[in-house]
Amino acid sequence: KNLKKYFPITGGVFGRKVGEVKAVDGVSFEVKQGETLGLVGESGCGKSTTGRLLLRLLEATEGTISFENQEVQNLSDVEMKKLRREMQLIFQDPLASLNPRQTVEKILEEPLIVHKIGDKKERRQMVKEILEVVGLDEYHAKRYPHQFSGGQRQRIGIARALMTRPKLIIADEPVSALDVSIQSQVLNLLKDLQEKFNLTYIFIAHDLGVVRHISDRVGVMYLGRLVELTDVDELYDNPLHPYTKALLSSVPIPDPELEVEDEDVIGGEIPSPSNPPKGCAFHTRCPFAMDVCKEVRPAFEEKESGHYVACHLYE
Ligand code: SF4
Ligand code: MG
Repeated sequence: KNLKKYFPITGGVFGRKVGEVKAVDGVSFEVKQGETLGLVGESGCGKSTTGRLLLRLLEATEGTISFENQEVQNLSDVEMKKLRREMQLIFQDPLASLNPRQTVEKILEEPLIVHKIGDKKERRQMVKEILEVVGLDEYHAKRYPHQFSGGQRQRIGIARALMTRPKLIIADEPVSALDVSIQSQVLNLLKDLQEKFNLTYIFIAHDLGVVRHISDRVGVMYLGRLVELTDVDELYDNPLHPYTKALLSSVPIPDPELEVEDEDVIGGEIPSPSNPPKGCAFHTRCPFAMDVCKEVRPAFEEKESGHYVACHLYE
């Protein structure tokens, strides 16, 4: 609720604070058990930062986070460590997040050791079982990350996230680095796992095409704020925010070569988050911008049942 993360910009000989980047600037949403909430936006919109704030891998500047009625931001380190069993992160680039000198077995065993789950024999058995669950074999256990394809490595990343039997998984662009043909396999795997383990997902992506097939609801972010949030079908059939409309008109992005990094998918430069436009942050790129848009920040409000938007066009 009202989550904010401001990073200081320092400069000069004394490294004093000369400004700040409002990476996340007042974001509120809820995620229901068993659902998938997609979070979408261009590079620098704050979607990854939001994910990290929820797990307290970064501390929020302001705002509250509750998970099953626990106020996450108030938990001690010990309590937080316990909670991390239940909240896990999957990264975009599995190769960068998997220790190259450890076998898959070691990599998957580590979260169990950290959380003191099982003895050696039980842990090995759990590794074996989870490898099967993600579509790998027992004989993969003795291999190293570089011996796998990109898709297989992401399966290992997913397996590692599942080891502690979490309830919530925050997946930060888990398929963005994969070939299109492999993307759908991994998305299907994530869907199957959700059913099997009753998982809740927050699925972060820069591409509305990817989140469509996995999300129940989708939130669209722009320069640190949510600008629209609603059910997935409603978003694609009846988008309200001009930014969402622009993102949808540029879906799909057909060139798989371009999927590796976040892309500017619509015209105009994204303004710097260290100096965001006044009023509606989208007004510099919006074809419908009015005078009021340059001065007044539009509130994020429910315009139709369950359909939230921040735009003066709907006031
Ligand atoms: Fe465009 Fe104004 Fe709506 Fe912002 S508030 S999206 S500038 S119409
Ligand atoms: Mg990111």
